[in-house]
Amino acid sequence: MTAAGRKRGGVKNIGGALQIAIDGPAASGKTTVARRLASRLHVIYLDTGAMYRALAFLALQTRTDVDNEDALVRLCDGQQIHVVLDPGAPMGFRIAAGGRELDEEALHSNEVTAIVSTVAALPRVREAMVGEQRRIASEGPVVMAGRDIGTVVLPDAAVKIFLTASVEARVARRRAQLEAAGVDVAGHRLAEEIEERDRLDRSRPVSPLVAAPDAHVIDSSSLTAQQVADEIERIVNAAAGR
Ligand code: C5P
Repeated sequence: MTAAGRKRGGVKNIGGALQIAIDGPAASGKTTVARRLASRLHVIYLDTGAMYRALAFLALQTRTDVDNEDALVRLCDGQQIHVVLDPGAPMGFRIAAGGRELDEEALHSNEVTAIVSTVAALPRVREAMVGEQRRIASEGPVVMAGRDIGTVVLPDAAVKIFLTASVEARVARRRAQLEAAGVDVAGHRLAEEIEERDRLDRSRPVSPLVAAPDAHVIDSSSLTAQQVADEIERIVNAAAGR
């Protein structure tokens, strides 16, 4: 793992390396906001959803059954899924699976999206992913986006955000994001896909999608990414006593 181009020290630590956890349902704007915030604060940015998507991609590529937990855990191991912190990369970091670098189009294909929540529900897959996510977080101050960051991955994060938005707002954002990435959205049933993934993520027994008790809940339905990032920065500054 490398951390190319990362500047340290943009933010005063709050009792150790600053950790900001941003969780929320599908397409709530987490990654856009997290990346923007990390860039403002000069800290590591990681979208953990991309790691689960990379595993789903690899499962499809290797024809691994989505119920075969042993085989999927092996795919998480041994450099198969490789994250490189690189703020200058199109996604704000780079991720490779099975030796191939994956772009947003590959990570957000219909096929990957259809199985990712099934793969992500497996306890030992999560254990492997969480271990790697914590290792990355140990490299320095970080903004991490996902579903279980404030509850499981970084339970001591100084700032926890749970970002929500109406289904309508989330569908519109996901459509714009996919179109910008060159994904053909004609075959996507976006509202159904988002709601089904939320249902699976909220109902799984291990690390379900839920706001941490100490999370700040922000409804971003009528806010721009800039406004949400401003609000989180205010919360970060308040937590740092500034
Ligand atoms: O954030 P994104 O929509 O790309 O995440 C894809 C899927 O990965 C989620 O629907 C969820 O099933 C899984 N995921 C997870 N835990 C995380 C991040 C993502 O289970 N921390």
